[in-house]
Amino acid sequence: MELVDSHGHILDKCFENDLNDVVKRAKENGVNKIICSAYNLFSSKRAVELSRQFAEVYSTVGLHPENVLDDDFENSFDKFANLAKDEKCVAIGEIGLDYHFTTETKDLQKLIFDRQISFANELNLPVVVHSRDAMGDTIEILQNNTPKRESLLHCYGGSIESAKILIKLGFSFSFGGVVTFKNAKNVVEVVRQLPVEKILLETDCPYMTPVPFRGQRNEPKNVVYVADAIARIKGMTIEEVAKITTENAKRVFGI
Ligand SMILES: [Zn+2]
Repeated sequence: MELVDSHGHILDKCFENDLNDVVKRAKENGVNKIICSAYNLFSSKRAVELSRQFAEVYSTVGLHPENVLDDDFENSFDKFANLAKDEKCVAIGEIGLDYHFTTETKDLQKLIFDRQISFANELNLPVVVHSRDAMGDTIEILQNNTPKRESLLHCYGGSIESAKILIKLGFSFSFGGVVTFKNAKNVVEVVRQLPVEKILLETDCPYMTPVPFRGQRNEPKNVVYVADAIARIKGMTIEEVAKITTENAKRVFGI
């Protein structure tokens, strides 16, 4: 069984001391490909470095909405662009809008999100979108500046109605540990209704640890628990879910 972790932050400090083992454990559990998600210039550099270090790792390069004040995007643009041209950079991400903790940076978030979609289009790369408490604005921006490539809405927590609009804009959706949580009724219902051809698996590690490991550091090998939960929701075998979601990830990221 082959699996892809479509979104994980293995560049996080908490993996610093045992990353070799983490990647090895992932492989032992069939997770042969890990998309390492960046969130600012520093982590973008780190993601590209890790993709050079490990055959299994691919990078995304981008500025996350919660990190819009980390870097002056326009002044750092050339640096982002150089990293994004790396042959194992498979997407611009994670980018998007997050109004959960603050709406003070709303205008800047929108500007930088829009700018990065254009950047992805110039490079013919997909985007990996993070959207939290901001689905209306996310969709509006994507309608006005639509990614050329099939793209990904990660850790999708929106409605099935929004998902249908996003599918028309060329999006697929990745789901992580949330699908294993007992209280995740909305997400489970969205997974049930979405075509399996639009579903990818992720861990969003070290966050979003699935049942039965809640409270521990999450890591790419745990994507198998996400596959298992989705198989049960869809009434499919875990092998079928692994096969189709892996094909989906390969299609979206061109890997
Ligand atoms: Zn993430």
